[in-house]
Order: sequence, then C-alpha cells, then structure tokens
Amino acid sequence: MARDRSIAHRVSSLRPSATVEMTEKVRAARAAGRRILSLASGDPNIPTDPRIIAAAHEALQSGNTRYGPVLGDPRLRETLAAHERRRSGASYEEADIIVTPGGKFALLTALMSIVEKDSEVMVPEPGWVSYGPCIQLCGGTPILLPMLDRLDLTAMETAVTDRTVAVIVNSPVNPTGRVLQQSEIDGLVALADRRNLWIIFDQVYSDLVHEGPFATPQGTRKGRPITFVVDSFSKTFGMTGWRLGYLAAPPQLAKPVSRFIQHSIYCVPGAVQAAGLKALQIYDEVVPSYRAVFRRRQQEAAARLNAIPGIECELPGASFYLFPHVDAEDRALAARWLDEHDIATVPGSAFGKSGSGHLRLTVTASEAEIDEALRRIETVGVR
Ligand code: PMP
Repeated sequence: MARDRSIAHRVSSLRPSATVEMTEKVRAARAAGRRILSLASGDPNIPTDPRIIAAAHEALQSGNTRYGPVLGDPRLRETLAAHERRRSGASYEEADIIVTPGGKFALLTALMSIVEKDSEVMVPEPGWVSYGPCIQLCGGTPILLPMLDRLDLTAMETAVTDRTVAVIVNSPVNPTGRVLQQSEIDGLVALADRRNLWIIFDQVYSDLVHEGPFATPQGTRKGRPITFVVDSFSKTFGMTGWRLGYLAAPPQLAKPVSRFIQHSIYCVPGAVQAAGLKALQIYDEVVPSYRAVFRRRQQEAAARLNAIPGIECELPGASFYLFPHVDAEDRALAARWLDEHDIATVPGSAFGKSGSGHLRLTVTASEAEIDEALRRIETVGVR
C-alpha cells in the first residue's frame, strides 16, 4: 500500500516561533485596519544607511551577480576577522570566518556540524525561541535549563550526560537584555573544557552593549578553540531583511563545516556581502548613535513602567529589550493588551518556563508609538 504524503516529523513537530507568530498577528491586524502599537518587534526601526544600499547597488551594476566563494567574499571575511579580534581580543583570521544568510543560519550551520542523532544540547532559558527548533532540525534534543538571571553552572554540570555535545549561550540575552559577567563566562568555559563540550556563543546583540565590559568565551584561552561564534548585521545596522550574518569557527573548522554551506545555500549573494563590507567601514560613524537612541528609549520606558503598580522593570545593560515582571499571568495579559488595547507584546513564557510572569517589550518602534503604547499601559495597568 502506498504511504500517505506527509510533512516529515522533523519539521511538523516544530513549535511555531512565538515572536514570528506575534509579528504575523500584528501584520494581519494592521491589514484589517486596526492601528496596533507594537512593543513586540525585534526588528529595530533603523533604516539601512544609504551608503550601504549604494554599495549593494554598485555591486549589482558592476556584474557581481554570480555564484561567489562558498565561505564568503575574502575582503568581507578579513574585515570580520579584524572586527572579531578587536571585540574579543582573540586571534581570528579570514580562514575562520563563514559568511551566512543571517545569524540564524550561522547557528544552524554550527549545530548541523556538531549535533548527531540523539545528541543533547543545553540551552539556558528564558532564551531565544529558535534554539530548540534548530537543535531538533539537526536530530538533537534541546535540554532547557531555567536560569533567569544568572548562568547556574552547578545546574548545568548536573544536566550534562554522555550525550551532551554543546551548550548554546547568548549574551546580551534575548529576551532579558542581560550581559553575562566575566565570572559566568569563565565558569562556562571551564565546564565546557572539563566535559568536552562545544560552546555556541550567540552575540548578535553585542553591538548594543550599553554598560560595562562585554565578556566572551572566545576571548579566553581555553574558550577560543571550542567556541562557535554566531553574529549578525541585522540588529547592529538595521539590516534584518538583508539576511547577513557570520559564524566565527574554532581553528581549522571553517573549511570542513562549510560543506554544509556548499550543499545548501552555496553562498550569500555578492551584493549583500558588498553591503556588509560597507556597513563595517562606517561602523564607528553610525553604530554609537543607534546605540545611544536605544539606550535613551530603554531608560525612559523602564522608568515609566516602574511607576505603574504591578510592574517591576530592571534596566538591563544592553539591547533594546525590557523584560519587566508583571503581577499577572503573562499570556493572558499580553492577549488582553492586544485584543482590547491594540498593544502588542510577547509573553515571557514564550521564551521558556522561567520567563513566566514577565513580558518582553522592545523599544524598536517609533518614539511616538512607544510613547502612546506606554500611555495606554499607564491607563489600563496590569489588571
Ligand atoms: N540570535 C538571537 C538571540 C536573536 O534574537 C536573533 C533574531 N531575533 C538571531 C539570533 C538571528 O538574527 P538574524 O538571523 O536576523 O541575524
């Protein structure tokens, strides 16, 4: 008997992304004529700088329209290596860098390269919604570890089994905006070194660190050889739709890992890479001002939220996120604010159990919109 046509379990079993679903919900409500004020989007309202757009245009006009090198444009890779050397103090060369379509594909590339069927990968939560599904796509099992406000290395050590191959750590953290401390990173590296684990370090918000130093595992002697670094142009330069990111691989691994790139996307479009090179060339000119805008908005929003009974909002050290605690059931509150008051937020429990009782708010909309959303919240409160 013929089998039914069906979607493979590896895809059909994935939970939809709560943040993408919320974005779609907002899009549909707006298309139906509702005026939604969004504090839900992780897409910064920075228009891509015209010089970046011009660089892509020029690349296309001058014939950069064909397949390119699998690992990426050598000039872009050299510039990214220098960028990473400067940021972490670690030694990186062009040979270590793989250009990818966004940070998400850099993450998938790393996981594809180290996860075997039935491997376990530890993921602290609350954490970004795509980690678990990306691990599952590679045949592995995500082991979610509740760690709201610190890396609990004892709990992590206890969770290691003989199937554990890696831990994914994100700093600054989506959804909380927290920056991991050097002591947490040092403990993580020691644990991974001792238990023979890879570290996947997702630093896509590292250009939005507002305060203090930024600690990285690759910046430590024992961390550099065991860390895959995931980074992206999306949040730094307002380039989410360009789909441009990179993986900085452990020594000698970029080449073997790139077989996955060869047999999947082959390469990132040359014009998009030309745009990325230009973006890095104007980094010092544009990024500090983007950062300052998000910091001011974050400070103002946190102060206003803290004045509302039933809301406690810490000011995190980075990003454009706020993760206030609310005296309410987070999913019900987010649904009520959306349905009755046209304010979009993401319930904290969408990022893991330990996010419950929180909402993730972003300051990525226009300032007028953020102001109006906060005014409504000030009026309706959390009850
Ligand atoms: N990591 C984290 C923590 C994120 O929040 C995101 C985007 N929301 C990404 C990676 C991927 O971003 P992109 O694919 O646009 O580079």
